[in-house]
Amino acid sequence: MERNASSGALLSKIKDLTTSLVKELSEGRSPNICIHKFRNYCTDPNSNCLCSSDLPKGQQVLTLTRQCHACRIDVLLRVLVIVQKLLQENRHGSKRDIYYMHPSVFSEQSVVDRAINDICILLQCSRHNLNVVDATLSVNSGLSNQSRGDRSPLETGGLVMGWLQFLEAGRKFDCINSPTTAYTIPVHVEEVKDIVSVAKYILIVEKESVFQRLANDKFCNANRCIVITGRGYPDIPTRRFLRLLVEKLCLPVYCLVDCDPYGFDILTTYRFGSMQMAFDAKVLRVPEVQWLGAFPSDFEKYDLPQQCLLPLTAEDKRRTETMLLRCYLQKEVPEWRLELELMLQKGVKFEIEAFSVHTLSFLSEQYIPSKIPKVEVLPGNNFKS
Ligand SMILES: [Zn+2]
Repeated sequence: MERNASSGALLSKIKDLTTSLVKELSEGRSPNICIHKFRNYCTDPNSNCLCSSDLPKGQQVLTLTRQCHACRIDVLLRVLVIVQKLLQENRHGSKRDIYYMHPSVFSEQSVVDRAINDICILLQCSRHNLNVVDATLSVNSGLSNQSRGDRSPLETGGLVMGWLQFLEAGRKFDCINSPTTAYTIPVHVEEVKDIVSVAKYILIVEKESVFQRLANDKFCNANRCIVITGRGYPDIPTRRFLRLLVEKLCLPVYCLVDCDPYGFDILTTYRFGSMQMAFDAKVLRVPEVQWLGAFPSDFEKYDLPQQCLLPLTAEDKRRTETMLLRCYLQKEVPEWRLELELMLQKGVKFEIEAFSVHTLSFLSEQYIPSKIPKVEVLPGNNFKS
């Protein structure tokens, strides 16, 4: 599955790239750097687009003869030198660390982020292959097997609980022994191994507050499952970890998000990947993700009072209209698109927590169980308890 992305292979690709640039320059020519462009959707659902393929959709040629390109090449080469050092020394650095190595040249974080993506495209690898991690995670990576109680409120990154056990770099994550304890999802997903589970399904929840509600209700004790949250938009380790679990355990995956445009966008990030990381979508998306709720139609179905509804703002409407154009909705999940259209038609949204209007545990005792199909567990996954 892993492409040719060992440190040694990447170091030799970096050497080849810089050698060819130096050669061009020394012969008096302006080097061209071709960077493939990737997208995971377009906004013309009726076209015969190839968005669902992982092939590049065009390319951009950077050349020193244009000022803005010259700046971009400057940043790219500086970041490349840092990456080379990380690989040579077998160390990890965060995107934020890299930014602070030349803040006056980089001017802002997004410039560094783009250079890192460009390098991944040039070297045909994923970001973790470059030993580059998310800004907020590297500081805490050594604590990644600590339970929730040890975390600072500023931390981001995903959480997991439930019927699961695995090793990361020799450390044991034993969720099975206490399925309601939250663990931070490991940063270095490539070091996760020996995954053992007796779960029947994986449930993704958008928000940490909902994850905590389920933990308080001992949801995993009553329902043999694994619960994951990316705490809003999921970061890369959370998506890679989810994907690893789905590949290893072959379990159904359900996703529970707020009934609003942000919730829907988060749902699509899990299933289809994000546009920003489209170059790596083939290792980040989880096509098995099924939308569990909350649907606009759930409002009436579960008898929520009017006070739980919020009107869509002008910004919500604009976002929803733009999302409706994404070609993958039309082509792969037309039923999702219908629900999104219904949201726009009704002009209202609501949060998952609105179900607490019935009772605090309505979500864990009624709503979620009513949505999970009652299917038999695959043989291989059904350990005796
Ligand atoms: Zn398309």
